[in-house]
Amino acid sequence: MADNEFDERFITADYTSLDNDIELSLRPRTMEDYIGQEKVKENLEVYIRAALKRGESLDHVLLYGPPGLGKTTLAGIVANEMGVNLRVTSGPAIEKQGDLAALLTNLSEGDVLFIDEIHRLNRSVEEVLYPAMEDNALDIIIGKGPSARSIRLDLPKFTLVGATTRAGQLSAPLRDRFGVVLRLELYSPEQLSQIVRRSAGILSIGVEENGALEIARRSRGTPRIANRLLKRARDFADVIGNGVIDLETANLALSKMEIDSLGLDRIDRLILTTMIKNYNGGPVGLETIAAAIGEEAVTIEDVYEPYLMQIGFLSRTPRGRTVTPAAYEHLGIAIPGQQKMF
Ligand code: ADP
Repeated sequence: MADNEFDERFITADYTSLDNDIELSLRPRTMEDYIGQEKVKENLEVYIRAALKRGESLDHVLLYGPPGLGKTTLAGIVANEMGVNLRVTSGPAIEKQGDLAALLTNLSEGDVLFIDEIHRLNRSVEEVLYPAMEDNALDIIIGKGPSARSIRLDLPKFTLVGATTRAGQLSAPLRDRFGVVLRLELYSPEQLSQIVRRSAGILSIGVEENGALEIARRSRGTPRIANRLLKRARDFADVIGNGVIDLETANLALSKMEIDSLGLDRIDRLILTTMIKNYNGGPVGLETIAAAIGEEAVTIEDVYEPYLMQIGFLSRTPRGRTVTPAAYEHLGIAIPGQQKMF
């Protein structure tokens, strides 16, 4: 297996073929089961209760944050708590105005329409969304040229839940039409450990508390990665150990997957060492880093950077990205101008 495939399977927080059915079974269905994100939950619960009390549909919600933090899950929970259907689609999947029109006209009263990667909707499709979000209306142009006319169709009331990894890329008119904008944060190791233990329970995997915490500590603040590492650690526990993930098996599995004590994988380390060795630790532009390591700039920005910044290994300056002294220390590389530490 090529190194890259290996990394992709374990590290990207995007969907891969490894997820699917299991992923579905691990998705919390109620607010109660949804661990962490207390502020987001608290606010959403109030809005949901208020909407239910008034017998209205929930205002449109925009969720943003890195991949794998639970945006899709939350959309499902909102639909569940509102007692309506969830329709799931994504920005790139809606190519033409007609695609969106078809989706919208098929909604039932109150339904939640979830659009993942909403920042990737094209402008002409976005224009269909504006009257739909604001007036529950669909404007259709009939005919062409001078005889063309526009008719307006009524749509059922619905709630749009949009998810994006980058709120900044949303056009202002679209962003302004969301009544609720919520930012999801990376999870703490304690919260991830709770998620790991919950998932282990659902999948009947034996895991000791310190084994769960070790997986959690190395999951880059991301539940999807925690669940994936749990599944791989189970393989090691089944084959090498006694089937139970204790601290030792967790450590072994994680080191075999080339995930270090802080959860950094090969690509994280490659980003940092390339910046240090080729660019004196920065500042260096995102595109330059991307070209140097052969990754896409958006992937670096969405998947790798948030965690590297959260743990204080990378900082963003107007002139580019810079590696911090803490990262040098972690990698065992001497900071230029200072004595070698290792
Ligand atoms: P996103 O849409 O942000 O990429 P998902 O909603 O698909 O992320 O979440 C990925 C997986 O992580 C889910 O299948 C679920 O099992 C798990 N997960 C996410 N958030 C939570 C949470 N708060 N509590 C428990 N599990 C979670």
